[in-house]
Amino acid sequence: MPKFEYAPAPESRSIVSLRESYGLFINGEFAPSGDGRAFKTISPATEEVLAEVAEASPADVDRAVAAARRAYERTWSVLPAKERGKYLFRIARIIQERSRELAVLESLDNGKPIRESRDVDIPLVAAHFFYHAGWADKLEYAGYGPAPKALGVAGQVIPWNFPLLMLAWKIAPALACGNTVVLKPAETTPLTALAFAEICQQADLPPGVVNILTGAGDTGKALVTHPGIDKVAFTGSTEVGKEIARDCAPTRKKVTLELGGKAANIVFEDAPVDQAVEGIVNGIFFNQGHVCCAGSRLLVQESVYDQVLASLQRRLATLRLGDPLDKNTDVGAINSAAQLAKIRELSEVGEAEGAQRWSPPCELPVKGFWFPPTVFTGVSQAHRIAREEIFGPVLSVLTFRTPAEAVEKANNTPYGLSAGVWTDKGSRILWMASRLRAGVVWANTFNKFDPSSPFGGYKESGYGREGGRHGLEAYLDV
Ligand code: NDP
Repeated sequence: MPKFEYAPAPESRSIVSLRESYGLFINGEFAPSGDGRAFKTISPATEEVLAEVAEASPADVDRAVAAARRAYERTWSVLPAKERGKYLFRIARIIQERSRELAVLESLDNGKPIRESRDVDIPLVAAHFFYHAGWADKLEYAGYGPAPKALGVAGQVIPWNFPLLMLAWKIAPALACGNTVVLKPAETTPLTALAFAEICQQADLPPGVVNILTGAGDTGKALVTHPGIDKVAFTGSTEVGKEIARDCAPTRKKVTLELGGKAANIVFEDAPVDQAVEGIVNGIFFNQGHVCCAGSRLLVQESVYDQVLASLQRRLATLRLGDPLDKNTDVGAINSAAQLAKIRELSEVGEAEGAQRWSPPCELPVKGFWFPPTVFTGVSQAHRIAREEIFGPVLSVLTFRTPAEAVEKANNTPYGLSAGVWTDKGSRILWMASRLRAGVVWANTFNKFDPSSPFGGYKESGYGREGGRHGLEAYLDV
């Protein structure tokens, strides 16, 4: 238990000026949806309504795709690559200038702790734009031939767990490669995407190069199935990813899918326990576990199981859950009532199937959507909590005896997005990494991201890579 209490250290929200209502961003301007429909976005920490946001209809999707096509043909594809790069550099610098505002807005709309939006999300957003700005006039050196061409108009659909960061992962490479975009943010987290639309205006980006359509799943479906789209990029659930793959299969559209995961975080007996425990906490409790590559299955070598579990429980008792805008908060709010219901349901299934549930003593706020950090022990491979993505602050702990058994268990999943290995031995890291069927394998660390490092999945975690030289391929006609 902490020896002293922290005084509240709330970040002021006065830096954010919320409008009462937001329109769709089409052809460089904000406009209401054609049929006037709108929905409310709330703060998941307090259930306070933050703003009303337009809901794009299929007719709005038509308008946005037409604007993106015009911008592609008349402006963006004929602009010298160096000039495209200048716009991206300008956007990156404005993101840095407005970083505090964007971090507060993200924490308000998403529920994530300000410490994470301020220190992780927004710096990575700027880094993605800087990185891809540099690529814009160097594409002939990317290894895809002497003059790689853009694809045209990209339709992009993103989830709610890293709203602005997922936007950056989608828009920065698309624009750098010469494409124009229509992007739909998630229904529960539209506000930073709309702030990004303002940044495009501020950067004097030619109208139509970036279009933002707010709405729900139907808007997403209308976008990815639109015949005017050349490329579909999606991040979200495996279920919706499969539907999109089916929708796009009979078309000429190029598709990349970044879907769910059930990553193994593997701790060997020779690992430094304190560092591994920090990595376990970061792996599953960062962003309330709303992370597709979260280390949601902890595999501990049997000989150190008691030691690791005791250290982990001690550490979890020090996590502070509460106001996302408090700078001392480690665990924020669950993003929506629907997601909370899903986490609760799967946790109840875990208990019913015979696993033991543990949470540190932790007071949950009365208003808003909250779930305490939770650890399940006595989990077997057959349990649903070991197989299904919970997408919340819930860790399933399993054990192993030999490296071969660790590989077997880690790979025993339909997913393959990431994995973590904790050991003192470099040779074991390489041995494991070459056998783990995961797009990213972290060694003695977890949840580390960099724009130059490609990210993506095996099996039902999707296909295509985002980031690095490999990520450019998704937006080039190669
Ligand atoms: P979804 O896959 O439903 O949502 C992702 C995005 O796709 C959202 O913008 C959503 O819109 C949109 N969308 C929904 N249906 C369609 C469709 N038929 N065609 C095109 N776009 C569509 O994820 P959820 O938010 O419903 O989360 C459900 C589960 O998915 C989570 O519990 C988690 O397990 C997993 N998930 C995984 C993520 C990852 O990064 N791998 C990210 C998010 C969720 P809208 O939000 O408006 O419904």
